[in-house]
Amino acid sequence: MKIAVWHNNKDIRIEDVPRPKPGPKEILVKIIACGICGSDIVEWYRLPRAPLVLGHEIGGEVVETGGSVKKYKPGDRVFVAPKVPCMKCSYCENDHYPACPNVKDRMPGGFAEFIIIPEALVQRGAYLLPDKISCDQSTFIEPLACVVRAQRLAGLQNNRTVLVMGCGMSGLIQIKLAKAKNCKIIASDINKKRLEFAASMGADILIDAAENIHDRLIAKNTKKADVVILATAALSAIEQAWKCVDKGGAIIFFAVPRPDEKVLIPINEFWTQEIRILTSYYCGPPDIAEAINLIESGTIIVDDMITHKLPLTKILEGFQLVMDADKSMKVIITPNE
Ligand SMILES: [Zn+2]
Ligand SMILES: [Zn+2]
Repeated sequence: MKIAVWHNNKDIRIEDVPRPKPGPKEILVKIIACGICGSDIVEWYRLPRAPLVLGHEIGGEVVETGGSVKKYKPGDRVFVAPKVPCMKCSYCENDHYPACPNVKDRMPGGFAEFIIIPEALVQRGAYLLPDKISCDQSTFIEPLACVVRAQRLAGLQNNRTVLVMGCGMSGLIQIKLAKAKNCKIIASDINKKRLEFAASMGADILIDAAENIHDRLIAKNTKKADVVILATAALSAIEQAWKCVDKGGAIIFFAVPRPDEKVLIPINEFWTQEIRILTSYYCGPPDIAEAINLIESGTIIVDDMITHKLPLTKILEGFQLVMDADKSMKVIITPNE
């Protein structure tokens, strides 16, 4: 079978390896679709583990099961989480699943024709896809779950005003979910095409991030935003974010700058205004369940975000499309086509 081994964004090698056999408690999944995530192209985040097979937004089909697996059978269509928290430690008990220190097994990267799902994930990280969710749509479960979590942590309620800074794929999903909550959405980005994408996803007001975002926000909306979502790691965006959040509001870091970049927080101003600064990383089992419901019920439509589907042999082109920012929204790799 073929796998795509990532060395860096310009060097992804298609290799032939033997198709693995599942152990007694494992299953073998054929990857039908695997999305390229914005985090896949962040080299400072990925390079320490390279070379590796990336891909954590999957939709697949069970083709073989280990002798003691009862939950799944060949032909079942599944989504599998990249990793599962233990659900027992104090972090898990307090809804900080992404901080669980007991994560051992990870899903092998989905940019491969087949993957072995390890025991812990077979037990607690795999989800049968409802009939209404296709494998292409399944690639949105994990990114949507991360967005569900971010908005939940920020306490984003219906009918609030939200500023989404950065309109790459994750920003667009933020817009979709906020729209489903009937929020007023202001989107900013330096890229005109991405602002067009944001408008088509439901953003009410568009702001060119090269301008003074605060001034444009006040001019177009008369007040600041209740929640500011940073879906970009640009330091210039962070600087502007501080000025755009209303009293009692929240700024949520959905993306962060490189580890060597420092961020200055105007904490003295925020103190009397009761402004919260939060981070949100990855997602937990309740967020995944919620994301599946949102897609299955049609509350969140994902099909209109898919702009490209490419075979595994064209994965380099797929990464380039994601890096180019204005040429694509969701790029999906279909390893078995
Ligand atoms: Zn992702
Ligand atoms: Zn835990």
